Amino acid sequence: EINFFFPKQRTLAVIKPDAMEEHREKILEEIHANSFSVTQLKETVLSREMAEEFYKEHREKPFFSQLVEFMCRGPCMMLVLSKENAVEEWRAMMGPTDPDQAKATCPKSLRARFASDLLHNSVHGASNEQHAEEKIRFIFGDISGENMMTRSSDVSG
Ligand code: ADP
Ligand code: MG
Repeated sequence: EINFFFPKQRTLAVIKPDAMEEHREKILEEIHANSFSVTQLKETVLSREMAEEFYKEHREKPFFSQLVEFMCRGPCMMLVLSKENAVEEWRAMMGPTDPDQAKATCPKSLRARFASDLLHNSVHGASNEQHAEEKIRFIFGDISGENMMTRSSDVSG
């Protein structure tokens, strides 16, 4: 009997403060329906400093202060999602940043369904694997990669 182990990819997903009260359950259901494993989960209110660090790539953008204000106005749900191709698949589930574009091009996406505007757009997802690992470490600390490997199937022969 041989066991095959397939490496999975991880991404960081965030349910943003605007979606926590009304849409969190639907978003979690959708995550499970799309066969992601949730390997870490916590509800956090980001401090201003944490929100600034989390979105440091956008420090020079005109919307940066609004974005930081928004992200620390209430609780966020932080999730580590594991699946093959998790980064891209979660981005696809979220849909485009702008909900108008999401409604026009991906009406089933989370942002098409739940975002109210370009700033308050319900969910976050890391944009590439390096950012995913960096943000997971930032939010959850130095967790090991033990959840990245999963026993996929037993093959006898
Ligand atoms: P994404 O979240 O799709 O990766 P970005 O990384 O470009 O999008 O932007 C980060 C977040 O900043 C967005 O999700 C949104 O909340 C906010 N944002 C982006 N662009 C704007 C904008 N032009 N005006 C206001 N808020 C914005
Ligand atoms: Mg981004």
